[in-house]
Amino acid sequence: MKINVLGGGPSGLYFALLAKRRFPEADICVHEQNPRGATYGFGIVLADRGLDRLQKADPVSYQAIVDASFVTRHRFMTHPDETLFIEGGGYGGSVARLKLLQILEARCEALGVHITYGVRVEDLGALEKADLVVGADGVNSMLRKRHEAAFGTTSRLLTNHLAWYGTEKHFAYPVMSYRRHAGGHFVAVAYPYSERMSTFVAECDKDTWINLHMDAMSDAERQALVEKVFAEELQGQPLISNKSVWHNLPVVRNRQWSVGHRVLIGDALHSAHPSIGSGTRIAMEDAIALADALVATPDDIPAALANFRKMREPGKLKLVAAAEKSFNWFETFPVKVDTLGAVPFIFDYLMRTGRVGDERLQAEYPEFMAHYGHRRHEGVSTQEVAPA
Ligand SMILES: Cc1cc2nc3c(=O)[nH]c(=O)nc-3n(C[C@H](O)[C@H](O)[C@H](O)COP(=O)(O)OP(=O)(O)OC[C@H]3O[C@@H](n4cnc5c(N)ncnc54)[C@H](O)[C@@H]3O)c2cc1C
Repeated sequence: MKINVLGGGPSGLYFALLAKRRFPEADICVHEQNPRGATYGFGIVLADRGLDRLQKADPVSYQAIVDASFVTRHRFMTHPDETLFIEGGGYGGSVARLKLLQILEARCEALGVHITYGVRVEDLGALEKADLVVGADGVNSMLRKRHEAAFGTTSRLLTNHLAWYGTEKHFAYPVMSYRRHAGGHFVAVAYPYSERMSTFVAECDKDTWINLHMDAMSDAERQALVEKVFAEELQGQPLISNKSVWHNLPVVRNRQWSVGHRVLIGDALHSAHPSIGSGTRIAMEDAIALADALVATPDDIPAALANFRKMREPGKLKLVAAAEKSFNWFETFPVKVDTLGAVPFIFDYLMRTGRVGDERLQAEYPEFMAHYGHRRHEGVSTQEVAPA
């Protein structure tokens, strides 16, 4: 069996290693445009819920990921009126995206997967000469775009703007801070992923982007602005850029998951949203389902691809629906910041996906509920929006 995987991100590498474990004789190639040791972004959260699936699928890489993870519990959430310490919650571990890729690459190569680096695939002709072609090439998937009509792709951009930075500021706990600045609204999510480094994702709504003339700023000016808005959080440490360009996140969906012997997984199939912090895990779980489906009917690729969707769709759609509720919440966060007091605001945030109800809040955040439950419906924010 010959399998070509387009994209050496988490989903492509993980699928390749799982498939090679099951089919040692198969010829499996991963094609990655970045040089070895280069990627975008900084650390990612791999929430502990769901990690057991990775353990079952490949205990070796699971253990290496766990060993490389920096585990944090609890978090601070800052509303302009008040900072709350949120005890509890399954925040779990964070790992450098690059480290995760290196673990998966090493495992692939030990099993005999062939990986080519540093060449962007432009011509699908040679790639498509295989029994199976896996489009694991991310949210801007070229494989998907080349067969867009057949996949039935729909795509739109969210209105918020966002950039993914790193910083050497060590946060003892993950932090989510909502700040007003010069009449605009910003939110930052920061968490440590090693003793030395933290991820710092900054976001603003479209009115802020326009009114503060961020569209006319250079990347360096935007970075300086974020450092100013979140000076209290950063405490003098600068942000670090790694292709940290401000952009609107796309929302990509596909009516078909496969077309002939081509199949999409990970962000190429359904774009994720960082606010539920599970894009990588979802992408890796796609890889598990595809490898399982292949094992069931290795001699019948169309049946395997149909079975992949049948097995994976129910669980995945729940996560996609949760992500949608979450990004829709973020699209209107300034109104909530301005109309809800700190405690009702945090409750609104915690319950935004519809998957967390009273019972789960009580089970996951007992200390938070004991401290703040009685203030859940208290009055709206009295704080004026800071003048421009
Ligand atoms: C700001 C931000 C923060 C995030 N934080 C988290 C988090 O905390 N936790 C989490 O789980 N997820 C997080 N995510 C989401 C996560 O990064 C993605 O969901 C995940 O990387 C998807 O994996 P993938 O393998 O499908 O795609 P990708 O990781 O995008 O990998 C695709 C790969 O394909 C390669 N490629 C693309 N086109 C070609 C081509 N033509 N030829 C060769 N190679 C090609 C790319 O170089 C890339 O390496 C975040 C995303 C963003 C934007």
